[in-house]
Amino acid sequence: MTLLVADRKRIATEIAHCKTLYEGFDAPGKMIQALGDVLNDCAKRQGGVEKNAQMQDLHGEEPEVRLARGESLNYHFTVNSAFLTLMLQNAAKALGDTRAVVGKSLEQAKGRWNNGEHGSAAELTLQDVFDLWQLVQKTRSVAPDLTSLLFSSVLSRVYQATVGATKDEWDLEPWHRGSCPVCGQRPHYGQLLSEQGTKVLECWLCGTQWNHTRLQCPFCELREHDELGYFVVEGRSVCRVQFCRRCSQYYKIFDTRDMINEDILLSVHHLASLEYDVMAEKEGFRPGSGLSWMVGV
Ligand SMILES: [Zn+2]
Ligand SMILES: [Zn+2]
Repeated sequence: MTLLVADRKRIATEIAHCKTLYEGFDAPGKMIQALGDVLNDCAKRQGGVEKNAQMQDLHGEEPEVRLARGESLNYHFTVNSAFLTLMLQNAAKALGDTRAVVGKSLEQAKGRWNNGEHGSAAELTLQDVFDLWQLVQKTRSVAPDLTSLLFSSVLSRVYQATVGATKDEWDLEPWHRGSCPVCGQRPHYGQLLSEQGTKVLECWLCGTQWNHTRLQCPFCELREHDELGYFVVEGRSVCRVQFCRRCSQYYKIFDTRDMINEDILLSVHHLASLEYDVMAEKEGFRPGSGLSWMVGV
């Protein structure tokens, strides 16, 4: 379950829960709640995400056949450029200081989108949006963590509304790879469950969860225990930064084994624990997901 498909009350409860587990989450918690509200309102005013974005099947194969072969379904979407622009502008407004730079980058991108590269309808692919994300990141005028928050929230909102419930129809039990079975993205966080200490990974983009071998790097598939490790902050052990010395990449695992209710919103825990991302990068590890959450410029 991810942030933006959850109802408002559930997000508020999880934010309150996270304030007790992580330090300094008061102001960011409020901002995240506001961001969720703004995106929901904006989508509603435009007739819903479903009206403005379509799921794109890049392969046209039976899902079960493809999954059994160990290949991601690679579902992407196309989204109307005017709708995407509105969503980004509104989200940027909620995040305050990202507004001007995002506006400028959008103007540049719009020029390109409307120059026939994408036809007159300007239906954008997921890759087009990733390119825009890079463009904003490159200006280095907005803090990287805010840029990541802005784009990942808008993209996951669009993705989850287009693929949505469809993904619950497939049997993901046999899937144990290090990338998402539905969209192919690499995970940034996951969870440790009390039931047999199972490690579950969750996709930051489409919210899909799948089981993964506990002592294995999702990115280079290494299983040698002495090269794999994790660190926690003393006295606060819910968030573990799992790292691999061979590929120098990391991801975060939330140890929920002591919690009464293990059904938590991992995306909120992730945003509440961004200081761990900063520590991981300072230790020389890169995010295996490719999403940088470094704070500041
Ligand atoms: Zn996914
Ligand atoms: Zn590795």
